[in-house]
Amino acid sequence: MKVREALMIGRKRLSDAGVANPALDSELILGYVLGKDRLKLLVYDEMSITKQQLECFNDLLALRCQSTPIAYIIGRKEFYGLDFYIKPGVLIPRPETEFLVEETLNVIYSIENPLIADLCCGSGAISVAVAVNNNRVRVYASDISDVACEVASTNIKLHGVQDRVSLMQGDLWMPFEEKNIRGFDVVVSNPPYIPKEELSTLPDDVKNEPQIALNGGTGGLEFYRRIVLRAPEFLKIGGRIIFEIGWNQARDVEIMLKETGFQDIKIIKDYAGFDRVISGVFCGL
Ligand code: GLN
Repeated sequence: MKVREALMIGRKRLSDAGVANPALDSELILGYVLGKDRLKLLVYDEMSITKQQLECFNDLLALRCQSTPIAYIIGRKEFYGLDFYIKPGVLIPRPETEFLVEETLNVIYSIENPLIADLCCGSGAISVAVAVNNNRVRVYASDISDVACEVASTNIKLHGVQDRVSLMQGDLWMPFEEKNIRGFDVVVSNPPYIPKEELSTLPDDVKNEPQIALNGGTGGLEFYRRIVLRAPEFLKIGGRIIFEIGWNQARDVEIMLKETGFQDIKIIKDYAGFDRVISGVFCGL
């Protein structure tokens, strides 16, 4: 069978199953099976594929039809112009989260040797993207999940930023406390923030992502509360906290921040016009 025919079969199967981008996903999956870039496939679409390759392609199409996210099937996801290794058990980086990277880079631009904490770092996407784009930075990233730490560690090496990003496994501030690492210029975090009451209403693709990375407890606010409460022990005076938030969480998080000595609150909207990032400067208790 030719690449062109296989791509068509894939597209039809995915489209019949209601997958959102059937042509793109068919190309990504076949590209993965053949070890070729998606665009190469389109150029060499007369190339033949073997029976085994076709079988493998069909098995992976079946996974995609059952709502396995494409990033888990092909083992990677692009984020902030970089290629990240991804596997089931770790949250797939979202384009919205690039705003956190952008904001962090803006804040540290004028700082000589910025010290950053990335709590709930997941795949390490934020830490790595920041470190790749600022070579004076020192990032400490933490996550409680084994899979997240394994994936983050791979991504740190993949992008050659081991000298700037240190990974520490543990619950939120715990590893920082244990090693007595304090005085951060920026604390950045995309914690789990889906209200636990809403987890069952998530799209099927998202339901295949780890609950531990999504479940933000009551109102989705539990992690903001826990992080903000202890932030004064770890941030410099004048340091900034930068959170990703759900579309309706800005007010609640703003109140928490103000009650804990944060001022100069800034809210940034995402591409869809929803509040997505909130940040504030720690001015002392
Ligand atoms: N943005 C993710 C979603 O909508 C949630 C990520 C998170 O909880 N940190 O599925």
